[in-house]
Amino acid sequence: MVTAQAQIPPQRLTVLGATGSIGTSTLDLVARHPGRFEIVALTAQSNAAALAALAIRHRAQRAVVGDPSAYAALRDALAGSGIEATAGPDALIEAAGLPADCVMAAIVGAAGLAPTLAAVRQGRRIALANKECLVSAGGVFMAAVAAAGAELLPVDSEHAGVFQALAGHDRTGVSRIVITASGGPFRTWPAERIQAATVAEALQHPNWSMGPKITIDSATLMNKGLELIEAHHLFTMPPDRLDAVVHPQSIVHALVEYIDGSVVAQLANPDMRSPIALALAWPRRMASPTPPLDLARVGALTFEAPDLARFPAFALAKAAMAKGPGATAALNAANEVAVAAFLKGGLRVPQIALVVEQTLDHMNATASGLAPPGDLAAVFTIDAQARRVAGQYVAALL
Ligand code: NAD
Ligand code: MG
Repeated sequence: MVTAQAQIPPQRLTVLGATGSIGTSTLDLVARHPGRFEIVALTAQSNAAALAALAIRHRAQRAVVGDPSAYAALRDALAGSGIEATAGPDALIEAAGLPADCVMAAIVGAAGLAPTLAAVRQGRRIALANKECLVSAGGVFMAAVAAAGAELLPVDSEHAGVFQALAGHDRTGVSRIVITASGGPFRTWPAERIQAATVAEALQHPNWSMGPKITIDSATLMNKGLELIEAHHLFTMPPDRLDAVVHPQSIVHALVEYIDGSVVAQLANPDMRSPIALALAWPRRMASPTPPLDLARVGALTFEAPDLARFPAFALAKAAMAKGPGATAALNAANEVAVAAFLKGGLRVPQIALVVEQTLDHMNATASGLAPPGDLAAVFTIDAQARRVAGQYVAALL
């Protein structure tokens, strides 16, 4: 029997950051829906072997490594496959702009900005996992989306939740958007124990399996601050109407409050393949292996306010959002530097927020300050300056 779904032509899909946690979850969904997708390009930073295996398995047209020194390994691994191999930052941008119906933006960090914008400028559907794009360059990014007529669909689970809780509702009737936070591995830890936490302990997320950078951001609650900034841009909500609540079960992902007092929430078991499926299939639905939600088995859903004393990164991100896009670009860059240093070993967990705070204070006090960047070049200038300043503060702590 020919089903309605089989009549849809295959969707041409490019995955930026294909070897990462979101990238492999995306390709897992693709494999579960044979014939539904056609893979255009897959990219990674340096893991040529993993990228080549994915490209061969999914019959990609092109595979791209960002790191030119990984080119030979990629080319050799793809020899005879008919898959084109390219390398370098410009090759990432070129691949992102290849004809496709949807581009999954799943590179981690501001490194994803230029390739994602290349896809935006082609007017594609962008499945946006890379939240740092919006934290670093929200205004510039959203203007590019509007100018190109691109379609932006959130992949971050909380934002996919907001998107669904807003769908079909009167946007002028929204009073507040609240996203949830699991609270991370240190939710119940006293400050002294967080101070002594190891990298391995910070990487133990209770509910989600994710890449290392976002897992550390979840441990400090910086992730929730980045997500408020992401929501601010995605849903055009003023900072004072956005908030987060800690919800350790990670079942409720977002709540949209309306002016009549009604609150629409989105619930699902924590599995990124649900929001990824939503972004790929919208406005249709696509099956995902996320287990059905059995609330009787979950038993209790609990909520608590974030503790700003033990998790100062959350407050820093909120303050940067209130200050504006110059501050959020610097916050993002300083956080990337501090998290990378923490993962290498040598920094303590609380020193991540300390470095971010010192960097913002320093940049606020300089002549150029943290004026809102008007274009991408201005974003990169702030980003580069914040990385330099943060690097100095990190060095002073090591
Ligand atoms: P990850 O570290 O698992 O994967 C990152 C991917 O980006 C890899 O393919 C890597 O090769 C590539 N990459 C890294 N640095 C690069 C660079 N400089 N240039 C080009 N490519 C580079 O990360 P992840 O957990 O999959 O997260 C990806 C993005 O999605 C992040 O922005 C994260 O905040 C967001 N996100 C992730 C999750 C999750 O569950 N993992 C949930 C919500 C949002
Ligand atoms: Mg999230």
